[in-house]
Amino acid sequence: MKPADVHADRVPSLLANSRLFKGVDLATMDAELRESRLLSIDPGQVLLDPKHLNTHIYIVLHGELLVCLEPKITNPLVRLGVGDCVGELSIIDASAPSAYVVAAVQTQLLSITKPVLWRMLALQQAMALNLLHVLAHRIRENNVVLLGSLELQRQYRNKAETDALTGLHNRAWFEEVFPKQLELCERTGQHASLLMVDIDHFKKVNDEYGHSCGDEVLRHMGSLLRRNLRSTDLCARYGGEEMIVLMPGTEMLQGQLTADRLRESIASTPLRLQDGRELTVQVSGGIAQWQPGTALHDLIRSADQALYKAKDGGRNQIATSTLPNHFEVS
Ligand code: GH3
Ligand code: MG
Ligand code: MG
Repeated sequence: MKPADVHADRVPSLLANSRLFKGVDLATMDAELRESRLLSIDPGQVLLDPKHLNTHIYIVLHGELLVCLEPKITNPLVRLGVGDCVGELSIIDASAPSAYVVAAVQTQLLSITKPVLWRMLALQQAMALNLLHVLAHRIRENNVVLLGSLELQRQYRNKAETDALTGLHNRAWFEEVFPKQLELCERTGQHASLLMVDIDHFKKVNDEYGHSCGDEVLRHMGSLLRRNLRSTDLCARYGGEEMIVLMPGTEMLQGQLTADRLRESIASTPLRLQDGRELTVQVSGGIAQWQPGTALHDLIRSADQALYKAKDGGRNQIATSTLPNHFEVS
């Protein structure tokens, strides 16, 4: 840091635009202003950092400062321009700054020590009120930054848990959430049914209409599943054209009715392709009733065997299983 080019006589007019000195009669604090220092810092130079206690408040007279999580001028959280101040929080609570403050360009500052600031606040109530406004503004600014980063986190999590093609939850989400739901059923003594759904002859759809039409069919399936299931049902894309649904609080018979309604809805809702053609697909499903103590992988194996049974039985149907592996075709 070096002395600023700004002449001391110009300081009062520069401070007139400052948030902290707005409406303050500077004539009453002539001595305090003379004790304050004018500084200039180079672009990229760090003014405040979390590893060092701060003992000054700085007012920007010229240039720009950036508040950053790293000691460089990338991805600034906040920009501080002419009239803004910085350092007020760390001198009030005597803690190290929570982020780095770095000069974006050659920047001129007025640096005021803590005892001088305290004297200024005692001299002029307007300045104390201004400081409260600065602090309120800072809290709001921090909230905006925090909410923005929470929203980003939510988007990343959503992306990590969602199958991009169908919009359904993906396999990773299934592996995390399904066992937890079964634990909950175990604790609350709820029933649950598990359904595996697989598109019939999907390979033919790809072969005859092309892979992108196959993709459209999968998206169509995703929306029909969402439309036909309850909000408490858990549904995920298990693999290629196979979806898995866990229906908590649902006994086998009720689960079977839901699954058959879903199957019927898929079979009777043709997909209109981009070229105007209509394409109807059918699905087969296997359903198994969960019983307390049954592990998820055993439940899946059981539903999977029921699904094979439905395929063997001619497809476009739901087959049921009751543990241990007993099958009926509906
Ligand atoms: P079945 O009635 O016995 O289920 O016959 P199928 O033809 O549906 O069964 P199979 O498992 O042999 O074929 C599944 C096909 O699904 C093969 C694969 O290329 C296709 N597939 C898997 N994932 C995708 C995808 O994301 N997009 C598209 N378009 N096709 C996919
Ligand atoms: Mg299939
Ligand atoms: Mg399959």
